[in-house]
Amino acid sequence: MSATRVKKNGASVSIVGASVAGTWQALLFAEAGWNVTLYERDGEDLPSAASHWAGGMLAPDCEAESAEPVISRLGARSLDLWKKYYSGAEFSGSLVVAHARDRSDFERFARTTSGYERVSGKALETIEPSLNGRFPEGLFFPREGYVEPRKALPDLHGKLRQKGVSIHFNAAAEPEDLSGWVVDCRGLSAREKFPDLRGVKGEIVVVETQEVELERPVRLLHPRWPLYIVPRGDGRFLIGATTIESERQDVSVRSALELLTAAYALHPAFAEARIVEIGAGLRPAFPDNLPRIQVNGEQIAVNGLYRHGFLLAPALAELTLNYVLNGARDNEVMRWS
Ligand SMILES: Cc1cc2nc3c(=O)[nH]c(=O)nc-3n(C[C@H](O)[C@H](O)[C@H](O)COP(=O)(O)OP(=O)(O)OC[C@H]3O[C@@H](n4cnc5c(N)ncnc54)[C@H](O)[C@@H]3O)c2cc1C
Repeated sequence: MSATRVKKNGASVSIVGASVAGTWQALLFAEAGWNVTLYERDGEDLPSAASHWAGGMLAPDCEAESAEPVISRLGARSLDLWKKYYSGAEFSGSLVVAHARDRSDFERFARTTSGYERVSGKALETIEPSLNGRFPEGLFFPREGYVEPRKALPDLHGKLRQKGVSIHFNAAAEPEDLSGWVVDCRGLSAREKFPDLRGVKGEIVVVETQEVELERPVRLLHPRWPLYIVPRGDGRFLIGATTIESERQDVSVRSALELLTAAYALHPAFAEARIVEIGAGLRPAFPDNLPRIQVNGEQIAVNGLYRHGFLLAPALAELTLNYVLNGARDNEVMRWS
C-alpha cells in the first residue's frame, strides 16, 4: 500500500500506547471511520505514563512564555478539539499572579505572553474570591482550560470502546511487529527508536483543604519556585510542577519544600491542608523540547510531547490523520526517515 493518500473508510490502524498521545490518535482515526486497535503495556490507570502525574492544563497562551510559537499554534487548535470531543474539559480561563516583591517577574511574563486581560487586585476578587486582597494585580487568560488526566483518559477510553475501538490493556506491543499503519505513542519507552529522547522529571503534590476555593488553574510567579495550582474538585488541588533534568522518579525534600512553600505563599490556608499524594513523572522530550511526528512508510511515531502532552495531543493526532488520508505535511513537526 502507498504510504500516503489512503482515502477509503474501513482501513485499519494499530496504535501503541494508550496515554494522551495514543488515545487522541485512536479517537480521531476512529472518528474518521478507521478500524482501530490500541495496545497499552499498563493497566487501565496507566501508572507508568507521564500523563499519570500531569496537571492537565490546556494553556497555549501561558506556555508562550517559555515555549516556541509552534506550541501555541498547535495548542490553540487542540483547544477546539478538546471542546469538540470531550465535554469534561473545563474552559474557565487561567490566572497568573505574583506578590508585589516579584513585580519584575510578573511584568516579564506579561511581555512574553498575549491573550490575557490585566485585572486589578480588586477585580481578582470577582474572578477568584479566595485570592481577595492577596495580590496587587493579575493576568487573566480567558480561553485557557484544563482536564483532570486521571478522569479524562478513562472517559476517552470509554468513548473509544463505544466507537468500536479494541483496547488491549496489559498488552505491550512492539510497533515493528505490527503490520499496516501503525502509530507508535510509547513516550519514553521508544528510546530504541529515538536515542536522543530523554526524561525530564516533574514533581507534584496533591493536597486537600476546604479552606481554599479555586475555579481555575492559578500560576504563582516567583524567581525560584514558579508553580501552578490546579483544582481537582472535592477540595483537592494539584500543586506542580518542577522541571528537573533527571530521570529519577522520586521526589526530593527540596522540591517538596518548594512546592508546599509556594502553595502557602499563594494562600496561607494551604498550611493546614492534608497531603494526599506526592510523586513524580518523566516527560518524554527531544533535545529541542519540541514534539515530533516521525514518518517511516506506514510506521509513524508521535513523541517528545514534553510539558505539553495534553495541550498538543489532539492537534498532533489531527496532523497524523491528515497525513495518512491526504499526504498533508506540517514541516514544523513532521520528519521522514
Ligand atoms: C508533573 C507533570 C505535569 C505535567 N503537566 C502537564 C500539563 O499541565 N499540561 C500538559 O499539556 N502536559 C503536562 N505534562 C506533560 C504530559 O504529561 C506529557 O507530555 C504526556 O503525558 C506525554 O504523553 P505520551 O502519551 O507521549 O507519553 P506517556 O504519557 O508517557 O504515555 C506513554 C504510554 O505508552 C505506554 N507504552 C510504553 N511502551 C509500550 C509498549 N511496548 N506497548 C504498549 N504500550 C506501551 C506506556 O505504558 C504509557 O501508557 C506534565 C507532565 C508531568 C510529569
